[in-house]
Amino acid sequence: MLSTVRHQQIEKARPIRPAPNLANYERARNAFTWAEARRELDGLPGGAGLNIAHECVDRHAAGPARDRVALRFVRKPGTVEEMTFAQLAEASARFANGLRSLGVGAGEHVFTLAGRIPALYLAAIGTLKARSVFTTLFSAFGPEPIQSRMKLGRARVLVTTASLYRKKVAGIRDELPELEHVIVVAEHREPARTPGTIDFDEWLSAQSPEFAIAPTDPEEPALLHFTSGTTGKPKGAVHVHEAAVAHHITGKLALDFHADDIYWCTADPGWVTGTSYGIIAPLTNGVTSLVDEAEFETSRWYRLLEEQNVTVWYTAPTAIRMLMRAGAEQAKARDLSRLRFLASVGEPLNPEAVVWSAATFGRPFHDNWWQTETGGILIANYASLDIRPGSMGKPLPGIEAGIVRRTGDGGVEEILEPDVEGELAIRPGWPSMFRAYLGDPDRYQESFAAGWYLSGDIARRDRDGYYWFVGRGDDVIKSAGHLIGPFEVESALMEHPAVAEAGVIGVPDPVAMELVKAFVSLKPGFESSSELSRELLGFARKRLGPAVAPRELAFAEALPRTRSGKIMRRLLRARELGLPEGDLSTLESGA
Ligand code: ATP
Ligand code: MG
Repeated sequence: MLSTVRHQQIEKARPIRPAPNLANYERARNAFTWAEARRELDGLPGGAGLNIAHECVDRHAAGPARDRVALRFVRKPGTVEEMTFAQLAEASARFANGLRSLGVGAGEHVFTLAGRIPALYLAAIGTLKARSVFTTLFSAFGPEPIQSRMKLGRARVLVTTASLYRKKVAGIRDELPELEHVIVVAEHREPARTPGTIDFDEWLSAQSPEFAIAPTDPEEPALLHFTSGTTGKPKGAVHVHEAAVAHHITGKLALDFHADDIYWCTADPGWVTGTSYGIIAPLTNGVTSLVDEAEFETSRWYRLLEEQNVTVWYTAPTAIRMLMRAGAEQAKARDLSRLRFLASVGEPLNPEAVVWSAATFGRPFHDNWWQTETGGILIANYASLDIRPGSMGKPLPGIEAGIVRRTGDGGVEEILEPDVEGELAIRPGWPSMFRAYLGDPDRYQESFAAGWYLSGDIARRDRDGYYWFVGRGDDVIKSAGHLIGPFEVESALMEHPAVAEAGVIGVPDPVAMELVKAFVSLKPGFESSSELSRELLGFARKRLGPAVAPRELAFAEALPRTRSGKIMRRLLRARELGLPEGDLSTLESGA
């Protein structure tokens, strides 16, 4: 028996590392067209358009991948449930037939409010099959954000669980006259039936497992995603079926999907990452996805990475910082040799985190940049790129990025010199570009000027074409004639061994206009004190110079964050200055 164990160990120690999909960047960029990328998808049979659900599921269910596991759910207690492409095709067909039986069809909005459970995923695919528009709401939202989003999205159907319905939906249902059907997943401690709702399992099993997707115009709305609310009230971004072309190709080029990967996207589908890259991209690429129902917990995450043989892992800086805070020992005690590609999105990834992950996992995290509005990854540290820690990487094939300056008369001018800060802009034309802000056409219009989409983020490009995030337009600090990006200051502070997390804002100053103020949370084993504060300020000054370094520093137990883990600098600023706190619907509770 020993030899078998050894053999397995050797197998684990020497995983096959496939060549990166994006091996020659310049050549791929020159040869790339979106029309060519679209050919990697099938389109609906008979030239009947393009439907995301077909590309994700039905085409695989009809081919050699039919019995491959599409989704592997790890439930909270650790039990595993698998769904093959064929099973997902059937279950989602039942869902689509169920919608049809309720008279819900093309263009109508179906919402889910649930944790990461199988029902959510098959509702997503079933909704798209029916040509309805899919939206997930994060399950930790309270009744107010649920109601306002469903109102704006004119939800006709909601799929939720018995406990979420009781706690969050029942009380607001009267306010939602357009919400006709609520389909409830039964739960074991809840009453068997909830009046005024449909039982999910019963409803689903009464439907036929065959569903032929009707012709779908690629420009039909498919997904409605709300932004994270980091800078203000969340906006509803509308995406169309054509977006799948971008999801697919970026999964392949930026996340380096290969058919036998076990992939884990840790984002909840309540955020765009959890849908674009937690549902669509891995499925179109025929990759097996792991879905963990539980929340972040260091030891659970390392155990899952090891036991589930995860090869590609996509997560966010906030989680990486928490893993760093817990120390590298737990990671090193696990056999994570299967991990081939690590990627991060959502916030700037501090250089320290890149260095730490390379030392801890033997591979660095690859940062990439995109937004709810862009629908998919646009700038990335792809697998074959030499990483410059702190950089977001380079624009993917098919993406033309620029650094621009608004001219004040509604126009913009492009900044061509390297290393100059300006607004990050993208040439429209990529398939997953949003097509509207729901209910706010003016704001949509204002996002475009002179042939560019204006992202609202400030960045710079170096001589070699790498992009560097400076800060969100609203967060950038203007001090004594300098433009200071909070990211740079936060990253410098994080290099100090005591610092777990840092959030940096500008506070008004009569002379300098703004002064840099840092809020810092400490790693276990460190106590806040005026000496430590002085030490940190000195440490930052040495690294950044007096013009950029913070002048003031405050300790905080934790920094206010969105539920998706982004530091809410606007809230740090509002609290510091005693200003109104604004929309708090996405604030993590207790922060
Ligand atoms: P809201 O628009 O409601 O304020 P949000 O911008 O945080 O919220 P998302 O669309 O989820 O909502 O996030 C996109 C933003 O996240 C980007 O505009 C950028 O500011 C930040 N971001 C995402 N990825 C990165 C990255 N790799 N580096 C730096 N910032 C990033
Ligand atoms: Mg935004």
